[in-house]
Amino acid sequence: MNAYVSKVLEGLKARNAHESEYIQAATEIMESIAPVFDKHPEYEKAGLLDRFVEPERVIMFRVPWVDRDGNIKVNRGYRVQYNSAIGPYKGGIRLHPSVNLSILKFLGFEQVLKNSLTGLPIGGGKGGSDFDPKGKTDAEIMAFCQSFITELYRHIGADVDVPAGDIGTGAREIGYMYGQYKRITGVYEGVLTGKGLTYGGSLGRKQATGYGLCYFVKNMVEANGKSVEGKTILVSGSGNVAIYACEKITEMGGKVVAMSDSNGYIYDAEGIKLDVVKQIKEVERGRIKEYAERVPGSVYTEGCKGIWTIPCDIALPCATQNELDGDAAKTLVANGCFAVGEGANMPSTLEATEVFLKNDVLFAPGKAANAGGVATSALEMSQNSMRLSWSFEEVDEKLKGIMKGIFTKCAEAAAEYGDKPTNYVIGANIAGFLKVADAMMAQGCV
Ligand code: NDP
Repeated sequence: MNAYVSKVLEGLKARNAHESEYIQAATEIMESIAPVFDKHPEYEKAGLLDRFVEPERVIMFRVPWVDRDGNIKVNRGYRVQYNSAIGPYKGGIRLHPSVNLSILKFLGFEQVLKNSLTGLPIGGGKGGSDFDPKGKTDAEIMAFCQSFITELYRHIGADVDVPAGDIGTGAREIGYMYGQYKRITGVYEGVLTGKGLTYGGSLGRKQATGYGLCYFVKNMVEANGKSVEGKTILVSGSGNVAIYACEKITEMGGKVVAMSDSNGYIYDAEGIKLDVVKQIKEVERGRIKEYAERVPGSVYTEGCKGIWTIPCDIALPCATQNELDGDAAKTLVANGCFAVGEGANMPSTLEATEVFLKNDVLFAPGKAANAGGVATSALEMSQNSMRLSWSFEEVDEKLKGIMKGIFTKCAEAAAEYGDKPTNYVIGANIAGFLKVADAMMAQGCV
C-alpha cells in the first residue's frame, strides 16, 4: 500500500483504537483509495488524507425526556459532521440502543463517499442516539424527538446540515423533529428530509433506497451478461430498505423467498407476499414471525443469520452492519449465489467482502448501491428550495438515471484502478473520493 496512506491508517487506528466499526470502514476505504495517492503525490503535500479521515466536527449531547410513568430518562445524542467540501452535511439519524460514536463515524465516513457518488452537491454526516424506539408510546417518541432537536437545532439548517431517517427514524420521528425545529426557529425550511407529503416531503423517498438498490443491481448484472428475471432472491431485514427492495426486485421478475428481522427469518418457497409483510411491519409494527402464522406453507426460523444458508442466486442484505460474515459468504458462494447488493450500510464484514471478490461474485457495495435514498433526499431538498413538488414518476425517473450514473462511475473507476474491472468496491471508493479530494484541494487547508 502507498506509504503515506499506510501511515495515516496506522495513526487513525492508534487514535481510535476502541472504535472497531470506524476502523473497519476506514481500513476498507483507505486500502481502496491508496492507488490514487500513487498517481497524485500533491495530495500528500497538502495533508489531504490526514484531513479527509478526521470529521470536521462531532457534537455529543444529553437528551433528557419524561416517560409514560413520569420517570426522567437520559439518552446520548450525536451528530458527526464529517465533510462539507462539496455541500451541506447530509445523512440520517439512527435511533437504536447500539448507537455509539464508532458506528456514527463509520456511517459518516461512508456517507461522504456515497453522497459524492450521487453527483449531487451534498457533504456527509450522520447522527443518532442510543434511544430505543421499540415498545415506546407515540407520546414517548415525541418527547424524545423534541428533546433531541432542542439541542440539535442550533447545529443544523437547510444550507448547513440536513439530517434524514435511518434505522429507527421513520416518517413519524422526522415529523416530530421537524415540528420542534420549526417551533424553535420559526423558519419553514427544508432542514430534514423524509418528511410527510403534506409538509414538504418528496414522493418516492420512501421507496428510494430499496428501488435504487434494485436499479443498481440490474445495471450491474446486465453489464456482466446476466439478468434478475427468474432468479431466487434473499432479502434480509424487513424495514424500509428491505420492503422496497423486495417490491422492486419482484417487479423486475425476481422471486424473493426469505426476509428477516433481528429475531429470525421467514422462508416462503412460493415467493414472499409483500402485502402481508407491509401489514405486519409498516402498519402493526409487529415481528416477522407473524408472517408464518398468516401464510400457510411458509416457515419461521429463530435466529437471523440462518437466512444466508438458503440457496439463492442473488442476496440483498438490507438490515444492518456486519450481518453477513465470512462463513455466511462462503455458504452463499457454495450455494451458487452470483450477485450481492448491499442495501444496508456495511452489512458484509471485510472477510465476507473478500470471499465475494475472490469468487467473482458480482458485489455492489452499500455506499454505491444504497445511495438512492440520499440522492432522493437531495431531490427533496431541491423541491423544498424551489417550493415545488415533482410527481412520483419524475422522481423515480431521476432516481433511475442517478443509479445508472453511479454504476457507470464505479465501473469506470474499477476499470482504471481495480485489480479487475468488476471490483466495484475499489470503484465506488475511488469515484466517490476523487470529487471530494478535488474540492478539498481547491478550497485550501480547511
Ligand atoms: P429499519 O429500521 O426500517 O429496518 C431495519 C430492519 O433490519 C428491521 O427489520 C430490523 O429488525 C432488521 N434487523 C436489524 N438487525 C438485524 C439483524 N442482525 N438481522 C436481521 N435483521 C435485522 O431501517 P432501514 O431499512 O431504514 O435501514 C436498514 C439499513 O439500510 C441500515 O444499515 C441503514 O443504515 C441503511 N440505509 C437506509 C437508508 C434509508 O433510506 N432508510 C438509506 C441508506 C442506507 P428489528 O425490527 O428486529 O430491529
